[in-house]
Amino acid sequence: MDDQKENMIKKAMVVVAHPDDAEWGCSGSVARLCREGVEVVYVLCTDGSKGTEDRSIDGYKLSEIRKNEQIKAGEILGLKDVIFLNHPDGYLEATLDLRRDISREIRRWKPDLLITTNPKRDLMTSNYLGHPDHFAAGEAALSAVFPAARDHLTFPELISEGYDTHKVKEVWVMMFGENANYWYPISKEDVEKSVKSLHSHVSQVKNPDEASKWMKNRRSELGETIGADYAEGFRRYKLS
Ligand SMILES: [Zn+2]
Repeated sequence: MDDQKENMIKKAMVVVAHPDDAEWGCSGSVARLCREGVEVVYVLCTDGSKGTEDRSIDGYKLSEIRKNEQIKAGEILGLKDVIFLNHPDGYLEATLDLRRDISREIRRWKPDLLITTNPKRDLMTSNYLGHPDHFAAGEAALSAVFPAARDHLTFPELISEGYDTHKVKEVWVMMFGENANYWYPISKEDVEKSVKSLHSHVSQVKNPDEASKWMKNRRSELGETIGADYAEGFRRYKLS
């Protein structure tokens, strides 16, 4: 069954905290969506100004480097646009301001599908502590989908700005562990593209060979769940 066609997904939006989050989490799926003609945009919540151990680079310079890396990754994947909301990296919280900013982008781009990060720290099924910004981005994105982007009386200033309400049809929350309930099959070509897009994040990916291996192996393992060569895992929510 072709779920994508079944649900008429023509536009998708990926909401994450940092440059490189989407490449690690869902870039194979993004590569497939773009390949199949879906218009995909990224919304980056932070300015990416903290992720370095290099003390010779300040936050402004780092932010500029990371934004350029994200734009390059987007070009490889075939994104329609990359939007930076520029909240300070490392301090992201699921505030009403962030929810409004994401709601504005949802109303502007009108995605059928929104992909975001897990809003909950999961210490039971993962060996990864998780980054607080990722949880905040996920929580704010889900709250923007429902109900903020949908309701005209929520953030009415957005209507004054010209952004009318929009109903997202479905949400995929990125999952690496056993909490996935949806595995989106991707091709070898999609995996290659996703690895290449990850490699654009030169300031973040210190060992590209190791990263490539992890990306391919994990997607191959997830693919086995559904008898596909490769897949990425999500919690999927249909809203209509
Ligand atoms: Zn991150």
